[in-house]
Amino acid sequence: MSKTFLVTGGAGFIGSAVVRELIRETDHRVVNVDKLTYAGNLESLAAVEDDPRYAFRQADICDAEAMARLFAETQPDVVMHLAAESHVDRSIDGPAAFIETNVVGTYVLLEAARQYWKGLKESDAQKAADFRFHHISTDEVYGDLHGADDLFTETTSYAPSSPYSASKASSDHLVRAWQRTYGLPTLVTNCSNNYGPYHFPEKLIPLTILNAVAGKPLPVYGDGKQVRDWLFVEDHARALIHVAATGEIGETYNIGGHNEKPNIEVVETICALLETLAPAKPEGVTHYRDLITFVTDRPGHDLRYAIDAGKIERELGWTPRETFDSGMRRTVQWFLDNEQWWRRVQSGKYQGERLGESA
Ligand code: NAD
Repeated sequence: MSKTFLVTGGAGFIGSAVVRELIRETDHRVVNVDKLTYAGNLESLAAVEDDPRYAFRQADICDAEAMARLFAETQPDVVMHLAAESHVDRSIDGPAAFIETNVVGTYVLLEAARQYWKGLKESDAQKAADFRFHHISTDEVYGDLHGADDLFTETTSYAPSSPYSASKASSDHLVRAWQRTYGLPTLVTNCSNNYGPYHFPEKLIPLTILNAVAGKPLPVYGDGKQVRDWLFVEDHARALIHVAATGEIGETYNIGGHNEKPNIEVVETICALLETLAPAKPEGVTHYRDLITFVTDRPGHDLRYAIDAGKIERELGWTPRETFDSGMRRTVQWFLDNEQWWRRVQSGKYQGERLGESA
């Protein structure tokens, strides 16, 4: 049966992948609510913007009146909450926006959802019983791992390190409290690092690809030995839609790609792929890997993240389609093929303003 999905942050990296997947692969309707911060880019939704099942509303999730109106007007069956401030470095430079959007915004959205759901229980008991509030979070809430074989499970204690991960941890606690206290039918997922098409160029993988093709240095924090577990963004989008449809109310599911890689290996993999996919190098560059430059480490930098995704595989039957090699090849090729998209982000034209360089 066709449902209405209210997706917050649908103009962001992962949100836009969820919206594209919902429109392409299902017959559901999608309302995308996004404030359009620097990270929101409607050009990532060009493929679906004319679809009659897609609608966009520009609004701030911290605006309680706007959220109440949105629920009343759109009558969603499922909320997928991805809107967030998401960049760790930005959270170190300016934590306030992270507390505002990730903590206060999640609270405002939960309250709007709860009032709407309370009303539904009186007007449409079946729709109220089927309603889901799915909160999308990160594995960074667990802090970092020190043992080489340790993995984050759904019961690992929270130990966030950065203002970003602390604000996401707070929002996870709020969502679980709204389920325990008010019975709001919630789901939480915690995912590892995503990569893929439409990734904002300040993040490690797109930054490395774009700096390499421009012949610029490829910055690597510290010794580059920090390990991250990488998941192709379309695999994450499919997992989220699957959890929203089949997850147990009140449960948490970790989502990961079984692709633990030290940052330096990620950068070297991109350099090797570019040798084949973009052999015509910028002037003065003999090998892309010669551009690798080690820079001062980020304060509080987590050493290793690795997800145990056994629960979502066993209980919901989800597994990723892409391997690290296939996903990275698709990603590098996408950036080579979609120069107009990333040039408009780099120049600020996607928002009508100029962004600073971020290396
Ligand atoms: P992103 O920064 O690319 O996108 C965030 C989106 O939220 C943007 O479109 C932005 O305009 C919007 N937004 C920000 N503040 C808002 C507000 N106050 N009101 C309405 N919209 C607002 O982020 P992403 O990488 O797509 O991440 C999406 C979600 O997934 C986040 O909650 C993040 O914590 C989580 N997550 C991300 C990763 C990752 O690797 N990127 C991994 C695990 C979990």
